[in-house]
This record gives sequence, C-alpha cells and structure tokens, in this order.
Amino acid sequence: SQLINQIAAGEVVERPASVLKELLENSLDAGADQVEIWAEEGGLRLIRVRDNGHGIDPEDVPLCLARHATSKIRQADDLERISSYGFRGEALPAIASVSRLRLATRSEASLEGRQITAQGGDIAPAAPAAHPVGTTIEVADLFFNTPARRKFLKGERTEFFHLQEVVRSAALSRFDVAFRLQHGERVQLKFAAATDEAARHRRVAEILGAGFLEESLYLEHADLGLRLHGWVGLPTFNRANSGAQYFFVNGRPVRDKVVGHAVRQAFADVLFKGRHPAFVLCLELDPAAVDVNVHPTKHEVRFRDARLVHDFLFRTLHDALGDYRP
Ligand code: ADP
Ligand code: MG
Repeated sequence: SQLINQIAAGEVVERPASVLKELLENSLDAGADQVEIWAEEGGLRLIRVRDNGHGIDPEDVPLCLARHATSKIRQADDLERISSYGFRGEALPAIASVSRLRLATRSEASLEGRQITAQGGDIAPAAPAAHPVGTTIEVADLFFNTPARRKFLKGERTEFFHLQEVVRSAALSRFDVAFRLQHGERVQLKFAAATDEAARHRRVAEILGAGFLEESLYLEHADLGLRLHGWVGLPTFNRANSGAQYFFVNGRPVRDKVVGHAVRQAFADVLFKGRHPAFVLCLELDPAAVDVNVHPTKHEVRFRDARLVHDFLFRTLHDALGDYRP
C-alpha cells in the first residue's frame, strides 16, 4: 500500500504547490477562517499550514494518513453532489508517502491535542501534543525518498511562484478567510478576512494589480440555472498586464477548455490577437451538473451540458463587453 500511496502521489503531488493546494482545501473544509502558511526554499524544504478549523478528533488522527479511510463518499450518489473540496481521502496518505509529514491537531470536543508523524509513508503512533483548536500540518523534504521525482522540480523561485498562485487563487475564492504566506523570514502575502465590499475590492486589486478594478467590468448574470459573476479586465488594462486569469466553478479553481474557449471567443472582438484578458470569474451551478471527479487534482471539471455552459459564458461575457466601446 506504500507503493499505491506513492503512485497516488504521482497523480496528486506534482510539486510543492500541489501539496499546498491540498492542505488549504482541507483547512477550508474544516471551516477555518484563518490560514497561515510558512514555506522554506520554495516549499521544497518545508510547507507548514496552520488553521483554526474544527480540528480532528483524537481517535480519527491515525485515519487521516490511511488511504481512503476518511473518504467522504458514502454512497455513489454523493459523487454528484460534492460540496466540500476533498472527498477522495487520498491526498494526505499520498503526501505522507513522499515527504516527512507532521500533523498536530485538537478538536473542539477534546481537551488535549494530538500529533502524528510519518516518514516516507512510515507512520509513527499518534501521541499527545499541545495544540489550540485547529490543525497544523508540516510537509518537509518533499520527494526525499523519490529522488527521480525531486529532480523534476524547478528552482526555489519558480516553486515559490506557484505557491503564491495557490494562495492568491484561494484568497479570491474565499474572501471570508484570512490568509498569510511567509517565505523564510518574509511575509509575502497577507489578506485579512474581507467582510465588506471595500475590503473585497482591496483584495482583488492587491492580487490582480493596481488599476484592475478601474479598468475592468463587473458583471453578474444568472440564467438557466447558471450564475456568473466577477470582473473582466478591459483592453486598456490588459495591454499593460500579463493577464492573470482566475476562474472558479462552485468555488473551486478550475482550468477548463470549455471555459477557456468561451472566454477567448467573447474577447475576440475587443482584444488584440494573442492577448490574454485578465479576469476573476465565478461560475455557480447545480453541483449535480458538474463532475469534479475527473482527476485527483480536481483542476479539471466535466460539465454535464458543456454546450449550455459554453454558450452561457460566451453570451454573458460578450453582452457585457458589447456595452464597452474602446
Ligand atoms: P479528503 O480531503 O479527500 O477527505 P485528505 O487526504 O485530504 O482527504 O484528508 C484526510 C482527512 O483528514 C480529511 O477527510 C479530514 O477528515 C482530515 N483533515 C485533513 N486536514 C485537516 C484539517 N486541516 N482540519 C481538519 N481535518 C483535516
Ligand atoms: Mg483533502
């Protein structure tokens, strides 16, 4: 099963940023509204995520590192209505199989905290540990026991760039949560919980760049059970910027061909060829109309009616941009 975990790790864990993505999702699933991240050497040496979520009951701690033991899927039907980020119960076992992992936690119901460690998948018995309500997970020396995989990692700067992207993306999908990312001695990102519109705008501007809100359209449109809202950068903004693109489907960051195509088509008239428009867009639809179980990293989704989604996105964006005259 060690080998199975390592194989699963090959799918789930590509680089430090994939580890961070899984850890953040678990923190959000645990209802945290404060998440602090520390990284060393681009996350290659260390990634530590600490949250103030509901924590883990002592008797469940060993299960967290056991494959599928915690899977939230209780019946096949649930696959169609997944609302939490995690559901496979394979991320932590997979990460633990290719790193030195330490998990410390305390649940609201228990007086004492608990910790468990694993080295390359060898799990030591859980033991008492001091910890406030919430969970801290440390992942050190990623791929220390699979040197071939380690060789594929890029330098510290590139890996850190990807870590930041994971945090920015989470920050844009969850304005209600405070995030902090420290790299070595430096705090690189810090977002307080944004409870009002001004604070949400500050967060967006901080992530997309000064000027983005002034040079973008805000749109909000619902039809046929679909709802799209967010900001699209206008050509004036896009010309000077690289065009950061964030798309969320029911709160999950998603890269999707259907989405990409609809957006490019909608922008085709107003953008210079080859330019990428910047945007932050959220699509909401019935969870039963979208399959998030396509790939372990959950970056990809499959829409039940891709045509409907494509045309809705294209129409909505095209109409919004239609009102805009350069
Ligand atoms: P999944 O998220 O798919 O359930 P994971 O392997 O990511 O599987 O996590 C295993 C389990 O460990 C989760 O289902 C959850 O019960 C527990 N867990 C992991 N991280 C946290 C956290 N930060 N807070 C509370 N529980 C956690
Ligand atoms: Mg998870």
